[in-house]
Amino acid sequence: MTNLTIAKFGGTSVADHQAMLRCANIIKNDHSNRVVVVSASSGVTNYLVRLAQANVSSQEQAQLISNIKTIQLNISQHLENKAEINDEILTVLAGLTQLASAQAQQYNAQKTDAILACGEQMSSILFSDVLTSIGIASEYFDVREVMQTNSLYGKAVVDIEALKANCAANLQEKLINKVIVTQGFIGRDGLGHTTTLGRGGSDYSAALLAEALNADKLAIWTDVVGIFTTDPRITAQARAIPEISFGEAAEMATFGAKILHPATLIPAMRHNIPVFVGSSKEPEKGGTQIQQQVASNPTFRSIALRKEQTLVTVKSPAMLHASGFLAQVFSILAKHELSVDLITTSEISVALTFDNPAGSTQSLITNAVVKELEQLCEVSVEHGLSLVAVIGNNLHTTKGISRSIFDSIGDVNVRMICHGASANNFCFLVPEIEANSVVEQLHEALF
Ligand code: ASP
Ligand code: MG
Repeated sequence: MTNLTIAKFGGTSVADHQAMLRCANIIKNDHSNRVVVVSASSGVTNYLVRLAQANVSSQEQAQLISNIKTIQLNISQHLENKAEINDEILTVLAGLTQLASAQAQQYNAQKTDAILACGEQMSSILFSDVLTSIGIASEYFDVREVMQTNSLYGKAVVDIEALKANCAANLQEKLINKVIVTQGFIGRDGLGHTTTLGRGGSDYSAALLAEALNADKLAIWTDVVGIFTTDPRITAQARAIPEISFGEAAEMATFGAKILHPATLIPAMRHNIPVFVGSSKEPEKGGTQIQQQVASNPTFRSIALRKEQTLVTVKSPAMLHASGFLAQVFSILAKHELSVDLITTSEISVALTFDNPAGSTQSLITNAVVKELEQLCEVSVEHGLSLVAVIGNNLHTTKGISRSIFDSIGDVNVRMICHGASANNFCFLVPEIEANSVVEQLHEALF
């Protein structure tokens, strides 16, 4: 198919009827938009996450379901097809109620994913009808028909070859006459059970569909007018970036810029599909274009900040002139499915950082992990640190980079520095309480 755009709308873009209508007009104004991928309406996934927990009373359960129902029926009440759509929403909610009561009796990871999937199911039913209401021929499509995954509930891995084959067989030809509206975030495993790809995973779903359908463009519509030089909540000096390379944007997404799910750019880069990020509230303001070749490659492009980092230092005299110590450390981490972000080493010690997912109350580094590492070496764990990532170009081969960076933040205690592995990234750890002011000063100095 020629000139095909996959358009993804995030939770705030499909939060209510007015928001959905704005998105529908974006689809209407550009005929290349043939596939729409939606997140759950804003707030719904959070309610579902709570609903899927084990210790929810039946009273709270009823309250959560009622909150979700209010959000969704507030949208459907504006639709001409109201009666029919309400029926569809109520059917999903009835299934949800059943799942939630089963979950209250016995927690089950597979049911959790079935619960979480309800948000995307409902928003896609509603959005498809909103498109119809403004005269666009559209069709609801259950993405589970094509998004085949393994059974790792909560962070399922997509079988990309199967996805491609399924799209060719079941989806490709539907695009010719209609705009397809489907779900982000969810998939189905070989047992026929619903799976999810991890929080924020709709961006990634959209990118995978773009790759599988050979799209010319992926448009990620959110509530900000593109990617900024840094978080505008930290400094009013932050400004939107019109154009950025895949390499830089991937580092940004990985190192804290919350705007894209970190995996989103992988399929786009693999298939060289340009990605646009813009605001569905103000589409006329444009956004950020992410692509392979960009007109300018400035040394400094942006600063990302990631809070709640855990620093683990492992130390062992046995490491001196020895081989295999790191392999042992990493095999323990791998066993516990911990992913290391930064690493530095000295003669007999190694420092590693881990990201605590936002809002998590528990440290990823559990007692079990520490105990196991302690059989090998001394272990210390520090919290209260933030990771600052300076993103740009040729950072590893440009003179004076570290002076430009550190001169501006004078007396901050820099706990760890990582530089040299990537051309696009210079990272360091600072105390959390100083992190915002570090970013503010750096931004002032570098931009
Ligand atoms: N609705 C899911 C979440 O809130 C997936 C997404 O929006 O990307 O995490
Ligand atoms: Mg998102």
